[in-house]
Amino acid sequence: MDKDLENLEKLAKDVEKENKKYFATIKKRVPKNFDVVVQDLHDKEFAKTDCLDCGNCCKTTSPIFTDKDTERIAKHLRMKVRDFESQYLERDQDDFMVLKTAPCSFLDERDNSCFIYDVRPKACSEYPHTNRKKFIQISDLTIANTAICPATYRIVEELKKRLPVHSNEKIKRLG
Ligand code: SF4
Ligand code: SF4
Repeated sequence: MDKDLENLEKLAKDVEKENKKYFATIKKRVPKNFDVVVQDLHDKEFAKTDCLDCGNCCKTTSPIFTDKDTERIAKHLRMKVRDFESQYLERDQDDFMVLKTAPCSFLDERDNSCFIYDVRPKACSEYPHTNRKKFIQISDLTIANTAICPATYRIVEELKKRLPVHSNEKIKRLG
């Protein structure tokens, strides 16, 4: 099991305020190399993190299923879209299609693999979004993900060291 997973909620809670303050400060003047630094931290983190030792995203949260995702997965399962949706999905309060149950119905809990890996929702393939451009735009989501994804927690902890902010809100450019 991932070393931080057992205490992740507490670890994330302990730095939640600090993280909110950090991203709010960085947002005022985003360093030019911000995305480059985050991408580097993402690459380093996932070079040593094996998601099959964790699976916590698939166990605790649902991806959004777009129409394209649903069509592709239903086809793969040789199901009608309507039947697939009624068996596995429901609409959330924001009107997105999400899984009815957690853990995900397509997670093999014996080894945290995904039964539909090759056709999984786009949101699953992009999770935890720590290698996307304009990363600063998803800081609220990232802070929430620190309580779900140990890799995200560690990336944010490293980010604060690589691009620290001063109390006078000047950004020290160490990246
Ligand atoms: S579809 Fe696969 S990758 Fe996505 S949440 Fe379910 S098990 Fe995880
Ligand atoms: S993306 Fe994060 S939460 Fe999901 S399996 Fe990998 S380390 Fe765990």
